[in-house]
Amino acid sequence: MNASRRAAANVPDAEKAFFVADLTQVYLQHQRWLRCLPDIEPHYAVKCNPDPYVLRLLASLGAGFDCASNGEISQVLRIGGIDPGRIIFANPCKATSFIRGAAKAGVDKMTFDNADELYKIARTHPTAKLIIRILADDSKSICRFGIKFGASLDVVLDLLLKARELHLDVIGVSFHVGSGCYDPTIYEDAVRRAREAFDLGERAGYHFSILDVGGGFEDTRFEAAAAVINCAIDKYFPDRSGIRLVAEPGRFYVSRAFSLAANIIARRAPISQDNETRVDLVTGKENEPALMYYINEGVYGAFNCIMFDHQTVEPYVLSMNDSFHVSASEPVSASSVWGPTCDSIDCVCKCVELPRALQVGDWLGFNNMGAYTICAASQFNGFQLSEVIYTTSKGGEEVRSLLRNFATKDHDH
Ligand code: PLP
Repeated sequence: MNASRRAAANVPDAEKAFFVADLTQVYLQHQRWLRCLPDIEPHYAVKCNPDPYVLRLLASLGAGFDCASNGEISQVLRIGGIDPGRIIFANPCKATSFIRGAAKAGVDKMTFDNADELYKIARTHPTAKLIIRILADDSKSICRFGIKFGASLDVVLDLLLKARELHLDVIGVSFHVGSGCYDPTIYEDAVRRAREAFDLGERAGYHFSILDVGGGFEDTRFEAAAAVINCAIDKYFPDRSGIRLVAEPGRFYVSRAFSLAANIIARRAPISQDNETRVDLVTGKENEPALMYYINEGVYGAFNCIMFDHQTVEPYVLSMNDSFHVSASEPVSASSVWGPTCDSIDCVCKCVELPRALQVGDWLGFNNMGAYTICAASQFNGFQLSEVIYTTSKGGEEVRSLLRNFATKDHDH
């Protein structure tokens, strides 16, 4: 995190927390995608991180986009040069005005999983190209969606017959195994269910042409998930001529590309190590200095991922006592790290070993902060959102040139 080290250099009052986005990482993830899933067109899930440079880079790489709302559709189309056909409105429960808005913007592909959605679409966007979202087993994912979305196979035929009756064009099937899927084998079962839905489609008089394998791709298990998906598609869709394969990856693209630097703005520590040791409130350990660090990002801001995305985060020292060098033999203490608001729920780390010598003004770093962080941050208690500093690491010339060329085509922005 060299860029953040430079930016966190000891300038008076230069204490605002900030992200460092390494756009090369996004580029490399795309290369990884093309290597492992060459037949599946990624539609980046904008909700995960609608950063304008990420969107622009992915647009220039030819990716499509999964949008959840009219706001996201507008943001993608504002990039310029994006055909609305590259967008899937992948929210199965949309406001009527949003469906109308999608029609106006030329976005035809949208998901549904219930009959009421079909009535709304028939009224407001009768030429839409629909994708039925089926229920997948989401029990192996950190964030489960099945309780809210997805038609179970036993209602799929009725839904498709209803769509037929309403003269709607259903073109395919999608599923989502849940976000942060830690058991890649689950995709096999989801593809099997999709096969069943394709067959039910034939019974309802449709001939589907899209299989959308959703999102859920977890960085460390990506290759394994890709292998399972490729095998499952070969098994259940041996003849897939005329079928377009798509996906809606979110966190896979951005998680590791963003790091966060936060400043220690306050500290609660024993005044003297001899007479002020006490029972740590969180760990319950006795005779340990209960070191509490307060930083200028918290769960109401970028660390909302702890609450909404069920993440645990691990700080490391970026700079200590004006030095970027922290010796491995530095004495450490069990410590807790807290966000800046006046709410006690605003705890970033309940217990982590950090150097005892950390002071107010020192910097902590957090990696893998690109997914479901900035997008859901609030300004509760009047704290500003952390800004993003962009960088490109090794091989960045290609990334910079892609962004430049894309910007040339899109002269309005
Ligand atoms: N598609 C849909 C419909 C989603 O709701 C989500 C996440 O909420 C995604 C794709 C992206 O999932 P992930 O970030 O796990 O790849």
